Amino acid sequence: MIHVDYQKLRGLVQDVFERAGCNRDEAERIGRYLVESNLAGHDSHGVIRVPRYVNWLKEGKVVANQTPEVAMDTDVITVVDGKSGFGQSVGPFAVQMGIDKAKKNGASIVAIRNSGHLGRIGDWAEMAAAAGQISIHFVNTTGLGMLVAPFGGAERRMSTNPIAIGVPREGTWPLILDFATSIVAEGKCLVALSGGKPLPKGALIDGDGTLTEDPLVIYGKFDSSQPLDNRSGSGAIRAMGEHKGSGLSIMCEFLGGALTRGGAAQKDENKLLNGMLSIFMSIEAFDAGHFFGDEVKRYVDFVKTAKPAAGVDEVLLPGEPEMISRAKRKAEGVPLTENAWESILETARAVGVPESDLKGLEV
Ligand code: NAD
Repeated sequence: MIHVDYQKLRGLVQDVFERAGCNRDEAERIGRYLVESNLAGHDSHGVIRVPRYVNWLKEGKVVANQTPEVAMDTDVITVVDGKSGFGQSVGPFAVQMGIDKAKKNGASIVAIRNSGHLGRIGDWAEMAAAAGQISIHFVNTTGLGMLVAPFGGAERRMSTNPIAIGVPREGTWPLILDFATSIVAEGKCLVALSGGKPLPKGALIDGDGTLTEDPLVIYGKFDSSQPLDNRSGSGAIRAMGEHKGSGLSIMCEFLGGALTRGGAAQKDENKLLNGMLSIFMSIEAFDAGHFFGDEVKRYVDFVKTAKPAAGVDEVLLPGEPEMISRAKRKAEGVPLTENAWESILETARAVGVPESDLKGLEV
C-alpha cells in the first residue's frame, strides 16, 4: 500500500484535468471532491476514478467546462440539465440553487438530469448541512451504470443507486447517511479488482445465478493496460437487504431517473450519467424554537450509550466513520494500492504531467 499526501494528491488530480481540457475551477473541484472521497474512506469514489474520467473525457462521454441548463425554475422546483458536464460542476451548481430556495421558501426540490458522475453523494448532503439544512437525495445512473440485479433476478436491471440523507447539528459534524442500494458500490469492485479490499461474500451473482465475490464476473477480464469495461462480464452486483434494498433501488430509478427525465436504466447505453432528485428543508421553517436541535442531541447521546455488541468498540452514527477516516488520512496520507497508484501515474504521464511533478507525493 502506498500513502500519498492528500493536498499533493489534490494538486496532481487538478493538474491532470487541466491538462485534459478542464478549466482551472473545474479541475480544482474534481481534485477536491475525489480526494475528499478518499479522505472520507470511500476509495471507490476517490482518485481511483481518475483514469476512467480521463478516458470518458476523451471518448466524449463527459464534457469539460459545460454550463448546466436550468430547464425549470419555480419557487420550489428546480430542474437542472447537466448536459453531460462533470458531476463535480453540475452537483454544486444545482445543490446551491436548492439551498438558496429552501432558505427563502422553507423547502425546495431539485431534479438533476444528464449529469456526469456525481461521485460521493454524501458531498451534496454535507453541502446542505453546512448551510444548516436537512436534505434527502435519490440517485440513479443510466447506461454504463446498469450493474445490479433486482431481488430474485440474475440479470442487470438497475444501477447501484445511492440514497443520502443529511442532518446538520449545531457546533459539530453533521449526521450523513450515504450508501449505495447494492451490497457494494461498483467502485468497491474496482478496488477489489486492483488488489484492494476483497468484496463481501455473495455480494455478486454470476450469469448462471450463483452467488460469488469475484469482481471478474462484472468485468470479464483484467488487463491493467486496457480500459476496464464493466459490460464484459455476465454477472451482476446484488441489491442490499434482499427485497427491501431492491425496492429502494427501483424507487431511485423512478425518482432520480424517470421524474428528472434523465431516464431509468436501460440496455445499450454508452454513457454514464447520473440523475438525482434532492429535497432540501430549512429547519427554521419547521421549528422556530430549538426542539429539533435539542431532540437530535438528546437522541444521539441515547444511541451512543447503547452497550456495544460483542467485538464492537463503540456504536457509531451515520457520518462518524467518515469523520474518523478524515482525521486519520489527513495525518497519515491517502492509502492506495500499487495498481491504483500506477494507473493514476500512467494517466498523468499520458496527459503530459512532467515526471518531476510525479515525485515526492508519497508520505
Ligand atoms: P457504505 O456501505 O460504506 O455505507 C456508508 C454509510 O454507512 C455512511 O453513511 C456511513 O457513515 C455509514 N456507516 C458505515 N459504517 C457504519 C457503522 N459501523 N456504524 C454506523 N454507520 C456506519 O457505503 P457504500 O454503499 O459502499 O457507498 C459508498 C459511496 O458510493 C457513497 O458515498 C455513495 O454515495 C457512493 N455511490 C455513488 C454512486 C453514483 O452513481 N454517483 C453510486 C453508488 C454509490
